[in-house]
Amino acid sequence: MTANYERLSALNKNYLWHPFTQMKDYNASDPFIIERGEGVMLYDVNGRAYYDGFSSVWLNVHGHNVPELNEAITDQLGRVAHSTLLGMANVPAIELAEKLAEISPRGLNKVFYSDSGATGVEIAIKMAFQYWHNKGIPGKTTFVTMNQAYHGDTLGAVSVGAIPLYHDIFRPMLFPSLAVPYPSASLIGEAEEAAGEATLNALRELFETRGNEIAALIVEPIVQGAGGIIVMPPGCLRRMAELCKEHGVLLIADEVATGFGRTGSMFACGLEAVEPDLMVVGKGLTGGYLPVAATLATDEVYSAFYADYEEQKTFFHGHSFTGNPLGCAVALASLKLMEERRIVEGVDGKSRFVGEKLAALADRPHVGEIRRQGLMLGIELMRDKAMGTAYNWEDRIGVRTSMRARELGMLTRPLGNVVVFIPPLASTEAELDAMTGILMQAVVDVTEEGF
Ligand code: PLP
Repeated sequence: MTANYERLSALNKNYLWHPFTQMKDYNASDPFIIERGEGVMLYDVNGRAYYDGFSSVWLNVHGHNVPELNEAITDQLGRVAHSTLLGMANVPAIELAEKLAEISPRGLNKVFYSDSGATGVEIAIKMAFQYWHNKGIPGKTTFVTMNQAYHGDTLGAVSVGAIPLYHDIFRPMLFPSLAVPYPSASLIGEAEEAAGEATLNALRELFETRGNEIAALIVEPIVQGAGGIIVMPPGCLRRMAELCKEHGVLLIADEVATGFGRTGSMFACGLEAVEPDLMVVGKGLTGGYLPVAATLATDEVYSAFYADYEEQKTFFHGHSFTGNPLGCAVALASLKLMEERRIVEGVDGKSRFVGEKLAALADRPHVGEIRRQGLMLGIELMRDKAMGTAYNWEDRIGVRTSMRARELGMLTRPLGNVVVFIPPLASTEAELDAMTGILMQAVVDVTEEGF
């Protein structure tokens, strides 16, 4: 260990408070400190290389230190780093808004920027709420979400969150929302169909009995991310969208995790030709470079706010860094690269490749479902697959497997007992081969060899 590492390690323990982290555990071990990145590799301050097997929390598209993206930022830096969207505009914010409207599901033509997925969700929730108010339709103030939903950590986003471990402590300070089950395609045959039907029936019943109270349904389309990489049965999202339309409920698609190619389509909604009323994007929007998010609204939603000032229909919401030019410039460059390199078109083939490699794990005694949609994968670890028993949370099986993967040279972060594999979309087959090799080794080492 170098003197530089020792210095940074002490400073880390003294000053940093990490997200979603029990700091007592963190400080009990040697911190892991990243210094630089190149392609799909990240390098720690001691010079060791690691594959970025979770795209730095599901953000990264083209890899790290990409010349075209770096250049977009430095070019913009030579003009202006930041100016506000309050009462004025800036060049990249305008151009990116046009581009987002072009590539998004039909009808989403208005772009409202923010700086994280959670703030994008807050905006969608507030827009949906005020939409009904502005339309003069009273009482439509309740939100429907899905069990195990995750939409970010600000209070509005937590109010439509449904992961007890993260959210229950805050319930007393949240607005109540209603939840329906998230259906899983991993159930076989009739069970899969039944799961889809159960969701649709629950939703139909809610809409029929309480539709006049419901402002919107918020959904992680096709893949529920933080809930454990759960993939919906085909056709379900489409039918959920139809139910919303039939019952006058707005549909908010939270594409923060699924957007920008991750599921094999530019947006997961595109897999089923779903056209939501509001759509939230973040994470991969800038290729994973800078914190920019956006909430896209249809002309219909926008028009409910478009009125003479005296009518008091203005959307009073904004953030200091809304429409940040550096972020918008790199987002534009990332989208251009995605087109030039046909990144989205490549995802399905890479997904199949990874799926075939990981099939070798299927017969292992502690590997349950291997869930996959595009380049979002989750491997469920089980104490006893034959008996269907789960590991106890105290076993920290996901954490231990991720730590072992790191020792073997790949970074990821688990979701409970689910090991996550979400590599940068630009990863080559050779890189995916190496990463899945590490992943499988880590699973076997921890679950069978007791590492
Ligand atoms: N929505 C979904 C579906 C997410 O997966 C996440 C983050 O993982 C968020 C919202 C929150 O995004 P952020 O962490 O940028 O606030």
